[in-house]
Amino acid sequence: MDIDWPALRAAAADVAGRAYAPYSRLRVGAAGLTSDGRVVTGCNVENASFGLTLCAECGLVSALHATAPAPAPAPPAGDAPDTPGLVAVAVVAGDGAPLLPCGRCRQLLLEAGGPALLVDTAGGPAALAELLPAAFGGADLSARRDS
Ligand SMILES: [Zn+2]
Repeated sequence: MDIDWPALRAAAADVAGRAYAPYSRLRVGAAGLTSDGRVVTGCNVENASFGLTLCAECGLVSALHATAPAPAPAPPAGDAPDTPGLVAVAVVAGDGAPLLPCGRCRQLLLEAGGPALLVDTAGGPAALAELLPAAFGGADLSARRDS
């Protein structure tokens, strides 16, 4: 699949302009390309209680599921659903330059795109596995839960 990184970064910069960031004044936008060709976006949404702040990637992953072609059937307990996922993600600050996802969002993106998900960085695309090595995932739940 060809990935138009400049277009993805531009989509992230566009949605960064819609961010609600009155406290940090750091607007962030995220744009992701899905395996079925959709581009989904999200922006950060801050809250006076700070702990409730949503990163741009949270909105992106919500948009991924909200715009899926059909409602996904419920997967067996403990298994991740087999739905179209992200293949490439660009996250930028309000200045349009790449911004790496925070730790929480790297974990969120892992379940939305897997370890091969490409993430835009100032040095070029990097696999999520490089940014989140030895990650915790759904397989750990099924392997380690009480029987
Ligand atoms: Zn984050």
